[in-house]
Amino acid sequence: MTPTAPDSLTRHLADLIQVQGPIPVSVYMAEALGHPDLGYYMTREPIGRDGDFITAPEVSQFFGELIGIWCVDIWQRMGSPPSFCLTELGPGKGTLMIDLVRALSAMPGAAEAAHIHMIETSPSLADQQRKNLDRAGIAGARWHQRLADIPRGPLIVVANEFFDALPVRQYVRTERGWHERLVDWDPAAECFRFVLAARPAADPEAVPQELKHAPEDEVVESCPAAQALVSDLAERLVKDDGAVLVIDYGSAESATGDSLQAVSGHATHPVLDRPGEADLTAHVDFAALAKAGQAAGAAAHGPVTQGSFLQALGIDLRAAALAEHATPAQQHDLQTAVERLCAPEQMGELFKVLAFTRADHLPPAGFEAAS
Ligand code: SAH
Repeated sequence: MTPTAPDSLTRHLADLIQVQGPIPVSVYMAEALGHPDLGYYMTREPIGRDGDFITAPEVSQFFGELIGIWCVDIWQRMGSPPSFCLTELGPGKGTLMIDLVRALSAMPGAAEAAHIHMIETSPSLADQQRKNLDRAGIAGARWHQRLADIPRGPLIVVANEFFDALPVRQYVRTERGWHERLVDWDPAAECFRFVLAARPAADPEAVPQELKHAPEDEVVESCPAAQALVSDLAERLVKDDGAVLVIDYGSAESATGDSLQAVSGHATHPVLDRPGEADLTAHVDFAALAKAGQAAGAAAHGPVTQGSFLQALGIDLRAAALAEHATPAQQHDLQTAVERLCAPEQMGELFKVLAFTRADHLPPAGFEAAS
């Protein structure tokens, strides 16, 4: 274990554990990513070749453009309202929004109607997004920390690789029931370690009903923050109309398994080593999200795989049209980008897409085959 600077997040969490005892995995994750001074997203440059990981909007402009076309369709289905909130959760470098708005601008009235609201907790990423939107000639966007700050009215929300950053709790099946997995500090070895709560979890909702009888030693995860957020979004859709598009990696059905993973410099990193210095994520449980949205009165569509979603929106046709006037090197790049986004062994299958609308709407574009 590397020595810990007095102001490091390791020191801060070790002190916290020494005072109050082992902490839930969700607290460890929330602090590692979001501590106001030392959290990963506050201090790092996460996305891009020089960062820790690359996201779909950074692979190709197709991604944001196709989502823009999806948003135009939703806007038209709402009756082309003269004003709506176009909201992105966790916009990274702002690339998705820039590509999305370019596609929106091709439809008369759509870009003019869109009021851009970015939800971002990291001041440095919000700064980067502001600069990049400015450079792309997109004016009038506003930044917020929370969904509750978005004004009322028709709403289209997109979230790419955002939900995987929300803190999960973990529970392990033992012969005495489900015990929460906690993070402890070992002062002798100077490192974090996993331990189990002494008593079984009291919250009957902690473990999904269908997994309650999993074999011993199985781990299940739940993400209360994601469920609460989807529930709030669904309530907004019911009142104000609109749609929410969630794209992330995870499973279509709730499943057992420890999916917590850390990534640094495009390589895996030990989850409990140097929190705040690596990205920390968990797979998204799409079935749990769909249920939370439905319980709040919205219709859930999908999940479908990212590959089938982008193909249904015409990624192949778009690539073929661009390839007609491209050099051989550009054609190769186009082909590589499409494969990276859509091929099952790349992002095409692990990444899923889930949409929410008001219950009286038909399945949106890309989800017709799933219903
Ligand atoms: N959507 C972008 C970035 C994904 S990385 C892309 O596809 O490239 C995750 C993003 O979510 C970052 O911008 C991060 O700062 C932001 N984020 C993480 N947790 C958040 C939270 N609780 N509230 C708001 N933003 C958050």
